[in-house]
Amino acid sequence: MKPDLKYLHDNIRDIPDFPKKGIIFKDISLLLQDPAAFRSAVDGICRNYQKKKIDAVVCVEARGFVLGAAVAYKLNCGLVMVRKKGKLPGRTFQVTYALEYGTDTLEVHRDGIRPDQNVLIVDDVLATGGTVAAVCRLVKKSKANIEGAAFLLELEFLNGRKKLSSCTVFSLLKY
Ligand code: AMP
Repeated sequence: MKPDLKYLHDNIRDIPDFPKKGIIFKDISLLLQDPAAFRSAVDGICRNYQKKKIDAVVCVEARGFVLGAAVAYKLNCGLVMVRKKGKLPGRTFQVTYALEYGTDTLEVHRDGIRPDQNVLIVDDVLATGGTVAAVCRLVKKSKANIEGAAFLLELEFLNGRKKLSSCTVFSLLKY
């Protein structure tokens, strides 16, 4: 069934000036709290991939885990966690990427993703694209194939897709 996009939009609230002045934070808490909206969001993402063979969903903390886990369950595939530096106990691949001020480092377990796998990257928001571009670089270190990157919502005015030109991007809701 097609998701009711208006219902989903209605369950995402704008929080102005969070986490800092000038940013309009897209808060998905209400959507996650509402069983119909949560289900519809996950189903709406998954219907694009039901005919593809996805071996693993790769997602990044923290809200990416929430959506990614539900998507992986529905697609009947595994889940791989990408975490901030220092959180994963095993041997890792790392990438460092630029933030507005400074840099951040993401890690994935070296044995988390196999080279023969077809993976789907899932996150809540596509903003500037820097985070998921870094996740793509991590997946490439594992030599796996990236089937695509899926987002609950995309802030189109930030042109995040430009940074993700090497993979197919899907977003359920656009702002
Ligand atoms: P970016 O790397 O700029 O694409 O930012 C992506 C990450 O930052 C996502 O994982 C989001 O969780 C978070 N994020 C960025 N901008 C927003 C926003 N306006 N509202 C909510 N989350 C955001």
